[in-house]
Amino acid sequence: MRHADRVESDPGAGYASWRPAALPDPWVIVPSALRGALEAELKAEVAEGHELSSLHVTAIARCGACDNAVFRIETSPI
Ligand SMILES: [Zn+2]
Repeated sequence: MRHADRVESDPGAGYASWRPAALPDPWVIVPSALRGALEAELKAEVAEGHELSSLHVTAIARCGACDNAVFRIETSPI
């Protein structure tokens, strides 16, 4: 999100009018206030030692019809 914000705020980059496409129903973007709960749920459900257990994730979308969610894996740019 930080990266997208930076791109959108830079009209010189030519992306000033770019907006993300709406998600197909019943998927919705996770409001920032609800991200922590989904991220904690994922951490609780991932077994210790699993590849995901040591990565920092951000909840970005969830399905309104079931409990599926999409997470972004945060990485450090080199
Ligand atoms: Zn679903």
